[in-house]
Amino acid sequence: MDIAETLLKINQELSGSNCQLVAVSKTKSSESIMEAYNVGQRIFGENKVQELTKKYETLPKDIKWHMIGHLQSNKVKYIAPFVNLIHAVDSEKLLATINKEAKKNERVIDCLLQIHIAKEESKFGMNEIEIHSLLSKESFANYKNIKIVGLMGMATNTTDENKIASEFSGIKVLLEKLKSECQSENINLKELSIGMSGDYKIALKEGSTMIRIGSTIFGARNYP
Ligand SMILES: *Cc1c(COP(=O)(O)O)cnc(C)c1O
Repeated sequence: MDIAETLLKINQELSGSNCQLVAVSKTKSSESIMEAYNVGQRIFGENKVQELTKKYETLPKDIKWHMIGHLQSNKVKYIAPFVNLIHAVDSEKLLATINKEAKKNERVIDCLLQIHIAKEESKFGMNEIEIHSLLSKESFANYKNIKIVGLMGMATNTTDENKIASEFSGIKVLLEKLKSECQSENINLKELSIGMSGDYKIALKEGSTMIRIGSTIFGARNYP
């Protein structure tokens, strides 16, 4: 299947659900991105600041760019003028920097907090207690140029579908708990960014509102 056919198929799977597709275009060419764009895809995900910035500059301005990868504080300034959603916020230090750079750009930047579940897959993310205590802080409301709109997580890379489902459902449970316990002007928990090429069907069943799909759409990535 080519890019257009795959997008059509995934969008059919999503129809009637409350889930958006983030087309993960990291390492992929502008030509491939435009193939997706030309059949209506507008949300694209990247995981490297330099690549994201370059693609933002050269591609159509109505694309919503999502930063899905680990973000270093010293690079936030490059994406703060345009980024639509930052998926993997994993520390208060990073959040404070995003807030500062958003303010400089007179923007409010939407963010997701990354929860660390699958131990082997990623060393990044916060645990439940860290997320809860960050969002419960009284001083949290001072971050007026960010908005926490949900959680992002990656499941263990395993063929055990029950394990993946239980990890995803754990994130969903946490989201509901935070919704009822953490209230602030800059918190509006509605998004659950779970599911990639290998596990998005499970994520959909567990209530994903954003699946991040790369290789299924664009083919395997070649890293130099
Ligand atoms: C690369 C990446 C994806 C997409 O992975 P595929 O398996 O190619 O769909 C999703 N989320 C994050 C955070 C990624 O880095």
